[in-house]
Amino acid sequence: VIGVASLPDTALAVTRHRGDGLTADQSRFVFCDFDGTISAGESFADMMRREAPSLANDMLAEIYALRVPLRVGVRRVLESIPSGRYPAIVDSMRGYPLRAGLAELIDFLDRQGVPFVVVSGGLEDMVRVAMGPLADRCHAIVAQTMDTSGPQLKPLSAFEGETEMVDKVRVMAHFTGPSPAERVAIGDSVTDINMAQVAELTFARDRLARYLTERNAPFVPWDDFFDVRRALEARWG
Ligand SMILES: [Mg+2]
Repeated sequence: VIGVASLPDTALAVTRHRGDGLTADQSRFVFCDFDGTISAGESFADMMRREAPSLANDMLAEIYALRVPLRVGVRRVLESIPSGRYPAIVDSMRGYPLRAGLAELIDFLDRQGVPFVVVSGGLEDMVRVAMGPLADRCHAIVAQTMDTSGPQLKPLSAFEGETEMVDKVRVMAHFTGPSPAERVAIGDSVTDINMAQVAELTFARDRLARYLTERNAPFVPWDDFFDVRRALEARWG
């Protein structure tokens, strides 16, 4: 595990968040996955399949079957990709389709004063390009950054965990601090299981909904961000 203090500034997406106006009494947070959640498709997995087809297919099958930890599989695939490919990888996210209602959800959260934190096991640069102007409306975007100075990509994460490149539960704790907070998680897949199980309220679709059903864990099904906004409006009044 790389210590936060030893990382270059570029690795610390979290230092660039815009939430200076938020105070310690912040009692509600929304933590939202990116791939398959904000993005309509699996942009990060698709990118790995495109850039490193055979290795990525093997690793992704093992990850989805929960046989290989995300951290191990994702790092192996990324470290096989030449750094020279990076600009094209990031650029491929321009105009990527996003799930409906995100701007409206962020509008609602702004009015409520609730920080919206994107927490992704993918690449921060891909997330930012895909989200366009909405990226600047997030309290923070926490994801992997890439060291492209060597021949192959080298992933960096300020929140690398035992099993994940971005340990979403650690990210949640970083933002909420020790004080009790209502944590809302929004996700779609295996990368969201842990945050879904610690959150006070979880919105789950697709694989995440199936995993949580198997574990008898409660969740609210959702399909787009209008569903999420409606449910939060009803809950918070
Ligand atoms: Mg996802």
